[in-house]
Amino acid sequence: MISVRDGQNQILAQIARPTPPELVPVGAARGRVLAEDLRAPFDVPPTDNSAVDGYAVGSAEVPAAGARELDVVADLPAGAVFDGALGPGQAVRIMTGAPMPRGADTVYPQETVERLDGRVRVGSIRKGANVRMRGEDIQAGTVVIEGGTALRPQELGLIASLGRCQVLVHRRPRAVLLSTGDEVVEPGSPRKPGQIYDANRFTLAASIVEAGGEVIDLGIVPDARAELRARLLEAGALGEIVVTSGGVSVGVYDFVKEVLDEIGAIDFWQVAMQPGRPLAFGRIGSAHFFGLPGNPVASMLAYMLFVRPAIYKLAGRRRLFHETYAARATEPMSKKKGRREFKRGVLRFRDGAWEVRTTGPQGSGILSSMVAGNCLVVLEEERGDVAAGETVLVEPF
Ligand code: AMP
Ligand code: MG
Repeated sequence: MISVRDGQNQILAQIARPTPPELVPVGAARGRVLAEDLRAPFDVPPTDNSAVDGYAVGSAEVPAAGARELDVVADLPAGAVFDGALGPGQAVRIMTGAPMPRGADTVYPQETVERLDGRVRVGSIRKGANVRMRGEDIQAGTVVIEGGTALRPQELGLIASLGRCQVLVHRRPRAVLLSTGDEVVEPGSPRKPGQIYDANRFTLAASIVEAGGEVIDLGIVPDARAELRARLLEAGALGEIVVTSGGVSVGVYDFVKEVLDEIGAIDFWQVAMQPGRPLAFGRIGSAHFFGLPGNPVASMLAYMLFVRPAIYKLAGRRRLFHETYAARATEPMSKKKGRREFKRGVLRFRDGAWEVRTTGPQGSGILSSMVAGNCLVVLEEERGDVAAGETVLVEPF
């Protein structure tokens, strides 16, 4: 038996380097992983500018007390720049974001002044008020987004604001996916007695895409040695990883093992976890091979624990694991010491605290428990039965 953590470490140690970088348009980069440290090519904001709509003045013109009238010598709409310099007794009407005119260092918000014909009456104000300073957000040359960051909408906006239209990201890792089993049939086709529709290829394909991978779908392979061998050989040449489900328990077990012994290498691991069956991990040519269990919950869980961090690492991400949080269990949960158990839970905020219950029956074939749930409840190896009210770790999904 190996622990979940040892299994993860052994897998990640096999992944030497991420996929190569490629240039993509910023608008198409959501979810991609940055392959460069992104530096600001200029100060942001690039000049001192007004934080409000109002009147820019030199602070020498600001009365210490009482009021004073100033000539409005120009009207600066957004995007306009004042060519001259402000002199004594002068003000410029300015819009939010417009560069400060030379000679001005303070802005009166327009609602604080009295507008006269061509003039403006102003009172006292703090020197330097309502001015955003050049470089106060980002200084030229600093790293604004580190390589290895998965890009969200706000990162795309920031990249665009620096004037970039393309960004260097890692190529999406290619995952070749197939289901095994004589009983497994394609949804949409008729189902004979004894047959089941393929669920795993759909949960796994969507999970791979969500993690930033690209799926190459090789469909369903029957439990037949020659066909399995041909399809796995093909799979190994098509992507960085090969993911199968089913056929790693007794019965077909030997086919996968025999075939992989011939065309690559394979280890069967007994991972100390629940739900959990043996997990197969190995190689076909230069591709990493993951043989996941057939039961839908077990295959999804094994994917989350072992395949997803591998995809993240291949994709160049710095962070390989999702965050866990603490919540109060509202019901007792059975737990065997010595293995890591994962329940499907419903996490919610109630009466000022996060609380979690299980989704009900936790069998490894009950896919509806993943549908009803919004988190995994992660019960560590050393832990025994959980009483209601105890704190447990949760990982939202
Ligand atoms: P196996 O590991 O191949 O013995 O499969 C274990 C259980 O998972 C069996 O009940 C299978 O019918 C079921 N199973 C295998 N593959 C799939 C699949 N792609 N979708 C849904 N259930 C599956
Ligand atoms: Mg099977």
